[in-house]
Amino acid sequence: MKAMVLNELCCLEENQTPLELMELPEPVPAGEEILVKVSACGVCHTELDEIEGRTPPPHFPVVLGHQVVGRVKATGNRVSAFGIGDRVGIAWIYSACGSCKFCLTGNENLCRDFKATGRDANGGYAQYMTVPEGFAYRIPRVFSDSEAAPLLCAGAIGYRSLRLTGLKDGQNLGLTGFGASGHLVLKMAGHRYPNAKVFVFARSAKERAFSRELGAVWAGDTAEESPEKMDCVIDTTPVWKPVIEALKNLEPGGRLVINAIGKEEADKDYLLRLDYHTHLWMEKEIKSVANVSRRDVSEFLALASEMSIKPEIQEFALEEANEALVELKSRKIRGAKVLRID
Ligand SMILES: [Zn+2]
Ligand SMILES: [Zn+2]
Repeated sequence: MKAMVLNELCCLEENQTPLELMELPEPVPAGEEILVKVSACGVCHTELDEIEGRTPPPHFPVVLGHQVVGRVKATGNRVSAFGIGDRVGIAWIYSACGSCKFCLTGNENLCRDFKATGRDANGGYAQYMTVPEGFAYRIPRVFSDSEAAPLLCAGAIGYRSLRLTGLKDGQNLGLTGFGASGHLVLKMAGHRYPNAKVFVFARSAKERAFSRELGAVWAGDTAEESPEKMDCVIDTTPVWKPVIEALKNLEPGGRLVINAIGKEEADKDYLLRLDYHTHLWMEKEIKSVANVSRRDVSEFLALASEMSIKPEIQEFALEEANEALVELKSRKIRGAKVLRID
């Protein structure tokens, strides 16, 4: 099968073709696994973190990609939930131990044995992949394969982030950064909390304009002071400046949720601008989001279908994965990038 493969960590600024098109053997599904013929795979900022070593894969070569949509082509001998031809989605959570205190309470995203699709196990930048059947989801009919792919990461983790903010209807929600997750969170917030006001902080004028088109009441640059204080903020950027600047705009008792698997080192000294009284005092909270649970993925898919959330997408061929990643790195973002795979 064709696959775009990562052979070693590298820096995208020096090497703009980190993935190599290779012919790999088609994987064989064991026991509870299904073999999926991939048709679409979303391109996520986490792939940049994997390539550049902020969340490094434990082994090489590895096939990246954790927003996968395809059809079941074969099943292991203990598979019961899916049959040949079923359309399924696969998300960031590839597997977890199933028996620790986190797994037993639905917090499998925190399991010490958490395995990530496309990092700890081969993912969807390929024609085929296998996954345990318990970690595959039926995709609601209303979505095409390409539309469903970005929902599986940006959407599901956006849903989890929104849950973790504790936002109530009528409150102010800030979003720092406005990529794939941001635009889905804005749509979700508008549906679930029709009286909440969404404010967007983004350094790109294009992203700000896009957020206003989608219903943000205000959009400004990362460092701007918002016209009203925020009850909660979700940060989806890979850097530190928006964290400090968002804390400044929080209400007393407000919560900042950082939805990022890693932060880049480049502007880390911005943290020295932290002024206790301006940024943290008055019971302001900071909370991170780690991974997703199966519940997040299932609930979000149902919500997205009910709301007819359709992500804005930009399609690439599998062979163009490097171009898509470089564009993502240089923040050429309008909606979510998706690889189409034959
Ligand atoms: Zn992702
Ligand atoms: Zn566990």
